[in-house]
Amino acid sequence: MNSQRIADIVAKHGLEKFRAKQISDAFFKKHVRSWSEVAGLSAAVKEKLNAEEPVLRLTEHKLLESSDKRTYKALLKLGDGRIVESVLMEPLPGHWTACISCQVGCAMACTFCATGRMGLLRNMDSEEISDQVLYWRQFIAARKMDVQLSNIVYMGMGEPFHNRRHVFDSIDELTNAEGFGIGSRHISVSTSGLVKGIEELADRHPQVNLAISLHAASDELRDRLMPVANKAHNLDDLAESMQAYLKKTNRKIFIEYILLDGDNDSQAHAEQLATWLNKIQAKHLLHVNLIVYNQTESAHRESSRERARAFLGALEHRGVSATIRKNLGRDIDGACGQLAVMDQK
Ligand code: SF4
Repeated sequence: MNSQRIADIVAKHGLEKFRAKQISDAFFKKHVRSWSEVAGLSAAVKEKLNAEEPVLRLTEHKLLESSDKRTYKALLKLGDGRIVESVLMEPLPGHWTACISCQVGCAMACTFCATGRMGLLRNMDSEEISDQVLYWRQFIAARKMDVQLSNIVYMGMGEPFHNRRHVFDSIDELTNAEGFGIGSRHISVSTSGLVKGIEELADRHPQVNLAISLHAASDELRDRLMPVANKAHNLDDLAESMQAYLKKTNRKIFIEYILLDGDNDSQAHAEQLATWLNKIQAKHLLHVNLIVYNQTESAHRESSRERARAFLGALEHRGVSATIRKNLGRDIDGACGQLAVMDQK
C-alpha cells in the first residue's frame, strides 16, 4: 500500500476523495491489517476491497526469531512467487530498525555476500520495497510489542542504486508526512559505490544517510572482492563522488568495511584504508564501521577479535574515526551479508 495506490483505489471504486485520508490514516498510522478495520467505509465497500485490493503486495512465507528476541527475519513472498528477506532488529536498546531489500538477488556478485551468489532475478517496485516497512509496523502492532520502528536501512538484498527509480520513489513514499511519515535522517541507504545514485541521493534526499560498502582500499583487491561495482567505478571515481556528496550535503558518510581473515584485515590494509580516507577533504565527516563477517558459503572467514581490534587501533592511530559494529541475528542468518533465498520459484 502506498499513497499512489490509495489514490487509484479511491478512483477505481468511486469513493469520495476525502476517503483517501481516512484510508491512509488507518494503514499508516493505526497499522490496521484489513479493509474491515478502516473506519467510515460501508460494509459492502469493505467486502469488495477485501476481495479485490490486498493491503500488502507481499505475504509472510516464513518468520524466524533470534534467541535474544532482538532480531526477526521474515521471508516475504511477492506477487510472482519470488521471495525476499527483510529483517527487524534492535541494534541499540529502543532503536528498532528495519533492514529492507530492494531487489530479488543482486547483480554485483560481491564474493563475501550470500545475495551476490543468487545473481539478479529482478528489481522490486517501490510499493514492494515500502511494503516491507508496513509489514514490520503491522507485525509490531499485532504483537503489541510497545516499541517504535525508528530507523530504516536499505541494506537487505540488492544494490539500491542499481534500482534507482523504484528506490527513490520508495524513499519519497517513506518520507511522505501524510503517509509513512518517517524522517529522512532516520533512513540510510548503503551502496557498493554506484556514483550516479550517490549524486541523485545528494540532490533528492540530502538528509538521508549514505553508507558506502568499501571493503578494500586498493583497486586490485576491490576488483577481486567486489568485481562488478569496482569495474563500474574504481576508487578514484568513488572518492571524487564522495567528495562532491560531502560538499553538497555536509553530511556524514559511513564507510562499511567487512573484516575478512587474511584477505583485507592486515595492518597494511588498515594503513591503505587510512591513507585513502585521509585524502578525502572533510574527513571529519567520514566514519568507518568495521563489520565482523558472518559466515556464508563463501571461501572467506571471519577475522579474529585480536585482528579486528588491531585493525581498529591502526585506523585510530592515523586519525580515522571508526568502530567495530556488533552483529545481530547471526543465529537466524539474519545478519549483514547473509540474506539469500536460493530456493526461488
Ligand atoms: S554486498 Fe550488496 S552489492 Fe554486494 S552482492 Fe551483496 S547485496 Fe549486492
